[in-house]
Amino acid sequence: MSPLDKLTAYFEKFPGVGARQAKRFAFHILTLRPEQTHDLANLINGLANSVVECSSCRRFFPAQAQGERLCSICDSTQRDRTKLLVVARDNDITAIERSGVYDGLYFVLGGTIPLLTNNDTTLRLRTPALKAVVNERLPQGLSEIIFGFAVNPDGENTTRYVESAIKELPGAEDLKMSALGRGLSTGSELEYADGETIKSALKNRS
Ligand SMILES: [Zn+2]
Repeated sequence: MSPLDKLTAYFEKFPGVGARQAKRFAFHILTLRPEQTHDLANLINGLANSVVECSSCRRFFPAQAQGERLCSICDSTQRDRTKLLVVARDNDITAIERSGVYDGLYFVLGGTIPLLTNNDTTLRLRTPALKAVVNERLPQGLSEIIFGFAVNPDGENTTRYVESAIKELPGAEDLKMSALGRGLSTGSELEYADGETIKSALKNRS
């Protein structure tokens, strides 16, 4: 495989990028000036060291201090610790925070679990880590879990799967569990929803 084909193959794995677009990206890189490609390569190389994965919600955040483990949301005393909103990706949190209508905590599952793959353990994403977080928070007053996955078969499958996994925990019987309301249209993703839509989806959780 030539370096150009290899690069194209990398781009093809990016979310939402098809084969043709991946090729366009690779060719675009060929048009950059040497200092630009150098800068881009350095940025990619240094990215892992400039961000930290929050030890609680698992989202990535720019680390300000050495050894910092909690993001500003998990670390805040202003957040409602009785609520936990489980989302697929970091970007979903960005969209909800932008809308300013949610004051609880989050957990990033890392994706959705495709329908008919529940027995494939590699596709359980961070479900075990989520269970550990819920287990730890239950005695601290956690009372509600909200699932904020896309309104499509995979999103609904993920909600069902994660919900039943949490129900296995001792003490989870009294947990209120809901999914974001149908204010979100079918197939829609939180990441692209506007503030009003997120607000009504949260209000209409069921
Ligand atoms: Zn966090």
